[in-house]
Amino acid sequence: MRCPECQSSETKVLESRLIQEGASVRRRRECLKCDYRFTTYEREDRFQIRVEKNDGRFEDFRSEKLLKSVSIACQKRPVKPDQIEDLVHDIERELYSKGKKSIKSKALGDMLISRMRNLDHVAYVRFASVYKDFKTPDEFISELRALRDN
Ligand SMILES: [Zn+2]
Repeated sequence: MRCPECQSSETKVLESRLIQEGASVRRRRECLKCDYRFTTYEREDRFQIRVEKNDGRFEDFRSEKLLKSVSIACQKRPVKPDQIEDLVHDIERELYSKGKKSIKSKALGDMLISRMRNLDHVAYVRFASVYKDFKTPDEFISELRALRDN
């Protein structure tokens, strides 16, 4: 990545942000030579992570799918779109940093749910009630208690 001002290839990344669909990354860069700051949109050439579903079938990991389910759980909650994006970005980064080419949907759900818990309690409960598939009101109540006691 060259500096548009002085053509130096020595730049550092100040900030990275995934943009829609996770296919490209917006980066703020700074030239180490002339301190010029600029923004790049870079496509990431990464391997496709596959998600193994409970029935053993695989599907492609799609960050927009996560974004959508988290957004639905956060409806009318004081959660900013940026926070949702960061949460999904964080999961994606963790998956890629582990270099895993596949993940079981349950493990992915666990990663998501533990982060939702820190994000917003109401959104977490909404998400957990679907994801954990509570069979009885007691299970639901004990989950709420655990949340309150934390
Ligand atoms: Zn420069």
